[in-house]
This record gives sequence, C-alpha cells and structure tokens, in this order.
Amino acid sequence: MVRRINLAHLPTPLQRPTRLAEALGVDLYVKRDDMTGGAEAGNKIRKLEILLAAALAEGADTLITCGGIQSNHARATALLGASLGLRSILVLRTADPAAGAPLAGNVLLDRMAGAEIRLITPEQYRDRVALLASVAAEVRAAGGKPYVIPEGGSNGLGALGYVRAMEEVRRQLDLGLASGKPFDVIVHACGSGGTAAGLALGAAHYEVAEEVRTMVVCDDAPTFERIIAGIVDEARALEPALGSPATLRVDERARGPAYAVATPEQRRRIVEAARLGGLALDPVYTGKAFSGLWEMAERGELAGKRVLFLHTGGLPGLLVQADAFAGDLATA
Ligand SMILES: *Cc1c(COP(=O)(O)O)cnc(C)c1O
Repeated sequence: MVRRINLAHLPTPLQRPTRLAEALGVDLYVKRDDMTGGAEAGNKIRKLEILLAAALAEGADTLITCGGIQSNHARATALLGASLGLRSILVLRTADPAAGAPLAGNVLLDRMAGAEIRLITPEQYRDRVALLASVAAEVRAAGGKPYVIPEGGSNGLGALGYVRAMEEVRRQLDLGLASGKPFDVIVHACGSGGTAAGLALGAAHYEVAEEVRTMVVCDDAPTFERIIAGIVDEARALEPALGSPATLRVDERARGPAYAVATPEQRRRIVEAARLGGLALDPVYTGKAFSGLWEMAERGELAGKRVLFLHTGGLPGLLVQADAFAGDLATA
C-alpha cells in the first residue's frame, strides 16, 4: 500500500462552463485542479501527496528537485516542504544563470518559502538526473537527509496521484455530476509526463474516459510517448491491480514556438476562455492545451464527444507574462 499525506483540498470541482461549451460547440466539462490549494495549487500537489509521504517515511529533511525557472512544481515543492518543516533546494533552468532569478511569480513564492535556488543553463539541465544526485551527495556529506524528486514529480509514485484523481472523478460521476456518464476524452497539458501516465491508468481503471489526449508543451510526441510509457510501467509495478492504460494520444499540434512561449492565437484563446468561462489559463501549459482542444473542436474532431478538460493550474506563469498579453486585451 502506497503511503499518502493529505495536502490538497479535495475533491476539486467538476464544472460545466456553459458559455464556453457553447462557443466551442462541445459537450465540455472542466476538472478544476487549479483549485487543489492556495498558493501551492495545481496538479503537482496530487503527486507531492505521495512523494512527500515517502520523503517523510525515509526521515528526509531536505527536498531536492528541478525545473524551469518559473516551475510550478518547484514552487509547490517549496511551499509544501515548508509546511512540513522540510528544506528545499531547487535546481532551475534559465538561459543566463549569471543574470539571476527575477523575483516574480513562482520564484517569488520559492524565495518566500525559504527555498535555496541554484540556477543552471539549458545545457547543464540535460544532465539533471546526475546533477540532482550530486546535490543529494552534498547534502548527505553535510549531515542532512536528502530526498530527490524528479522533474515535475513525474515518476511512478507521483503518477499515482493522478490515478487517485480519476478515482475522485469516478465518485463525482457516481454522485450524478456531469450527468453521471463517463467521458470520451480527457484533454490536458503535458510537460514531464507524470500526469498523463496517471490519467491514462486511472481513466481506464475507474472507467472515467476512453481516451487521454495529452497536449505536449515542449519536445515532440515520440519523446513523450517513451517517457510516459516508462512512468506507466513504474506505476503499475507499485500498484499491480492497475490494468492497461486508456488510449493515450500524445498531440504536439498545440506545442507553440517554444517552452513557455505561446502563439498570438493561443493568447487570444486564453483571453476568450477567461471572458466566456471565468477560467484563468496560462501561456505555458493550460492555455496551450485548451487552445489545442479548441482547435480540435473547430476541425470537428470532438463532434458528439463528452470532453473533460483538466485544468492543472499555473496561474503564476500567466502573471509573469502580463506584458505579452497587453496587445490581446482590447474589448471585442
Ligand atoms: C507541471 C504542469 C503540467 C504538466 O504536468 P506533467 O505531469 O509535468 O506533465 C501542466 N500544467 C501545469 C500548470 C503544470 O504546472
């Protein structure tokens, strides 16, 4: 039995954004995992409920993890670590480490939580697994007890958080929410693969959806297919009762020009989603995934389907890009 601690505010709402659904012409529901918490909110809490339980069980006193400079995962780790009395060391990727980390968005929250930030270049980031291990060795040498969490909290343990999320949606359907019927497809943003792996396993196990449509925000589809398959195997080894995953389609059509850079069209749809649905999507993850969903709807690929969009959070990543949106806000 895999250990877990309660950190998220659950269940998160399962909502029908009526006006947005009409605009898209899609039978659309939204699972509000942007509401899993306060400043620590987003999809990473569900993974960290299990990963931090393992850290505590091992007697760790220092969490070590990595991500992009504005990593939501690093921020959630820093805040939840602080709440549990654990120190965090965050190894963050940035184009120019010498320029430092601007005190805004997730970095502000990391620093408020007392996390130690170490900046590295994208080239150094390629060796992140070895780098995290060397930071752990350093902590050990100084008498500390490190616990290394991989990028995005995406390993078999972390993915089990999204298996449980699917159990939660199953219970909501059983209560009659979203008219009680399973979905045809779940659409979500993917950056490190753990959410996709857990969704695919949980959606099948709890009969929540036939297909998981994974919108990647960086890299290419074959890379993520390989990464997600590896995480699926790890999670199934931890929970052998899990059967085969749901159909997983890794879609790179909404990836945009680069990680954390959205197209003007994606920004326009982010603004539309706020105006029609009161949803705050971000230009790094959820805005790209939702734009991908919208484009699928326009191409007729979602005709007659029941669609669940998983809102994975990411608000600080929107707020640090305020300037990019200045031109997109004119009233229609
Ligand atoms: C990390 C993150 C994702 C991607 O989840 P992975 O499990 O890393 O693929 C999606 N949305 C937001 C807001 C995130 O922070």
